[in-house]
Amino acid sequence: MTLSQPYNQTLFLLGFGKFPDQWKQLGVNGHPGIDLQCGHQDPIYSFSDGDVIYVDEKQGTCVIIDENFEYSYAHLDSICVNLGDKVKEGDEIGTQGNKGMTMLADELTHLHFGLRTIDRSKIFQTLRWNFPAFSPIKYHILDVDNGFEGYIDPCQLFDKVVKTIAKAIERKENCNKSWNNPGAIRGTDGNFLTFPTYEEGFNYLCNYLERAATGQHKAYNPNCSVYEFFKIYSPSSDGNDPLKYAKDIISWTGLKSINDPIKDWLLNDIDLVKKYNGSDYGVLWTDNSVFGIIKRKINLLWSILN
Ligand SMILES: [Zn+2]
Repeated sequence: MTLSQPYNQTLFLLGFGKFPDQWKQLGVNGHPGIDLQCGHQDPIYSFSDGDVIYVDEKQGTCVIIDENFEYSYAHLDSICVNLGDKVKEGDEIGTQGNKGMTMLADELTHLHFGLRTIDRSKIFQTLRWNFPAFSPIKYHILDVDNGFEGYIDPCQLFDKVVKTIAKAIERKENCNKSWNNPGAIRGTDGNFLTFPTYEEGFNYLCNYLERAATGQHKAYNPNCSVYEFFKIYSPSSDGNDPLKYAKDIISWTGLKSINDPIKDWLLNDIDLVKKYNGSDYGVLWTDNSVFGIIKRKINLLWSILN
């Protein structure tokens, strides 16, 4: 599976923190990652550019780091990268399998994906999954006292929907940078707002979107659809058709239709899946489904964070 290439079917099997009782016996408060099923022996691709710092063929574990994160891929059937390799996002690193310890049924071969934030400097640590100790590149894990040995829920990063949409708008608007107004937002006098810095303009856009989607903006109507909202919001500076604009934006957010309520922007992905796919567990997601959207969001997120 890749987060940047199309994939026909991906199954989200298990979320972060599940099975606390079983995992507590292993010293963590629950499942320290997410499980995805892409197809037995189907290729698994790197989620990020990075350095391969750990490979264990027997256990099926491959670990890659970039400047900010450690990405672990577990239960791989085969691994086609070597320790020390530099990989690009989308490079194949191995195939899905069922090696190593897993709490899912044997027939549920899957990818376990773990994510930890790191600092690239050496600090001595003794961790249950102490990949830094084997790494040719010095780094240490942050937040090791979080109950999950530093592992964080990748899905929580998906919640940054507002920022993601703001980035999409920024890219689409491609505004004159000197306005410091990446959202091309007009004031009540009809003129474009200007901000002292670009960052302030971007924060204003994020705030604007958040207010719009949570009912704190005068344009908000709880029953307002995405399309109706973009009839109000859609900046005229680039001649955007609100219909086209709304369609572009829903493709970034996980909503299915321009007639969906804009307030659902702020649902996290699991809630989105529940609402739009009926369940968050064992549902087959196609690339055009919410999971496909999540993959694109992760991609965007990586691009925002890096
Ligand atoms: Zn797992």
